[in-house]
Amino acid sequence: MNCGACCAMYRVSFYWGEADDALGGWVPADTTEQLTPTLRCMRGTSIKTPRCEQLQGQIPGALCGIYENRPSVCRELEPYDADGKPTDQCTRARAAHGLP
Ligand code: SF4
Repeated sequence: MNCGACCAMYRVSFYWGEADDALGGWVPADTTEQLTPTLRCMRGTSIKTPRCEQLQGQIPGALCGIYENRPSVCRELEPYDADGKPTDQCTRARAAHGLP
């Protein structure tokens, strides 16, 4: 990943068991915050102008500071769908940052 627009656009929430203070979890728990009894989110993404605290650098060209341990939702967001078309989530995030 070397864009980062989506990391500064959406609330990045996921099942709490992905955090490493749960058995089998891998996302550093101290980079997350509790949303509900079963959901956490990446710190910095649950505010009006979200930006994940783990995002390093300027968009575009920013890097994930916990890339190998990022939550599933980050792994699943693709810039292109199976037909090779840009995905809505990616397009919206890039547009919000003035990117094509
Ligand atoms: S964990 Fe990494 S990939 Fe996920 S939102 Fe934060 S900076 Fe982006």
